[in-house]
Amino acid sequence: MNSIEPTGQCYCGCKSAVGATSYFLPGHDKKAEAMLTKLQHGPDNAVARRLARSGFGPGGKSLLDEYQRVEAMSYADFAAQRLEFLAFQTLQEMSGRPGISHAVVFTAPGNARLLPTATPAEPAPKAMNTTNLPLGGGTVIAWGFDHVLSEEEQNLVRLRFGGQDGTWSTRT
Ligand SMILES: [Zn+2]
Repeated sequence: MNSIEPTGQCYCGCKSAVGATSYFLPGHDKKAEAMLTKLQHGPDNAVARRLARSGFGPGGKSLLDEYQRVEAMSYADFAAQRLEFLAFQTLQEMSGRPGISHAVVFTAPGNARLLPTATPAEPAPKAMNTTNLPLGGGTVIAWGFDHVLSEEEQNLVRLRFGGQDGTWSTRT
């Protein structure tokens, strides 16, 4: 069997009918896994034998560490994609608000923070919106202004995000 598709029959071999999108009756996936492990690694200490076969266990790799490493990695990938989409969506949303002529969006990894206002000459935003992805997955900060910012004003606004590793996009 190369590809797996739900067939309407439980994969454990019990021949029960299941829903069109299911592989197992509830609980039968766990039973199937236990049966397969025992068949392939012997009835005694089958899980430990199975782990040892893959190099896990005392004196070998830590299954828990390995699992958490892979989980964290896939979350970072997920968060980066989500952040990019969120930045795009936020820029659209902010620039489309009534009375907003210029939207500025700053996107940074981790939990980014704004620096204090450096100068009274900095233009005051009419609307602000900050979104943090959970688990330090990144930050999107959006500001909306009631006029199109001059080059100089944009530079002042940029200072608020100074020194942080991030990207900046604007829309008028
Ligand atoms: Zn079954």
